[in-house]
Amino acid sequence: MQSAGSHRMEFPQRILVGEGVLEDLGSFIEAPGRRKPVVIASGANVQEKVRDRVTRAIDSPAKWVEVEDSDMKNVEQVMQAASGAYCVIGLGGGKSVDVGKLAAYKIGLPLFSVPTSASHDGISSPFASISGSSKGYSAKAKPPVGILADIDVIAAAPRRLEAAGCGDLISKLTAVKDWQLANKKTGEYYGGYAANLALMSANVVLERSKKMGKYDQGATRDLVEGLISAGVAAGIAGSSRPCSGSEHLFSHALDAVCPGKALHGEQCGMGTIIMALLHGLEWEKVRRSLREVGAPVSGEEVGIGDEDIVTALVKAPSIRPDRYTILTSAKLDRKRARALASEARVI
Ligand code: ZN
Repeated sequence: MQSAGSHRMEFPQRILVGEGVLEDLGSFIEAPGRRKPVVIASGANVQEKVRDRVTRAIDSPAKWVEVEDSDMKNVEQVMQAASGAYCVIGLGGGKSVDVGKLAAYKIGLPLFSVPTSASHDGISSPFASISGSSKGYSAKAKPPVGILADIDVIAAAPRRLEAAGCGDLISKLTAVKDWQLANKKTGEYYGGYAANLALMSANVVLERSKKMGKYDQGATRDLVEGLISAGVAAGIAGSSRPCSGSEHLFSHALDAVCPGKALHGEQCGMGTIIMALLHGLEWEKVRRSLREVGAPVSGEEVGIGDEDIVTALVKAPSIRPDRYTILTSAKLDRKRARALASEARVI
């Protein structure tokens, strides 16, 4: 039981970021010599690329579960495989880490996050984004016990994924603004420290977009560390508030309106341009930064039609009515949503 006015903070216990650190995975998760198997949730592509290296590094029995989608069916498959296991590793992009995270949480096993791309902050956050859930947004789980991010592996992932990661980072700008607004309007708890940590993550992209857009090892490292810090900010806040505001509601609405068109971080980036405009922030700077890192700034670039953008904007506040954001007070109808998206040049 938590008393009123208190909240629980949860963090990863250890984080290893560096070039070639995948070889250290076994000692990182303290696996060598263990009899209980390590369960590895991972997509087919990733398995093809790193399965041999991971198997060698772990040096104890391993059960591989192929994750096809981030839905409950896949979560249940991992849970089944993990009965009697030592730990679960979520190895891959967003889906595998999310599926592994929720499965590990449900059966009370430690989860190690081993991202092979840097496309969103789920690599470190206590939340799992599982599609098909009744809520339509992230489910609360526990943060990974450990995060091992091999910069060589992540830098070799498609550029589009890193650009999406930049979109997820920049979205902390409007997420924090929404959190401040909610605090003012409803008295909801606001944590300045967690908010500032999340803003530092946004600034990695906002203040250094030209450098980030080069996607050299240094930029990849900054991106990974920014995403990890953002997830830790959610752990400090005890909620996804510092990482997820109106721009995330817009992204979740797009997932419902036109699923599978764009990546989470791409949608959040476009949402941030629109919500920055609504908040009276420097939305053109947000737009320019996203362009400089190669992230899309309009629906057209990712095949999302104008009407779907408008529908998602109108729908967004109903995705999570308990979460007060700028969209709660804006009460957009289709006409105003269209005008807003058009002014932000997203349509
Ligand atoms: Zn996100």
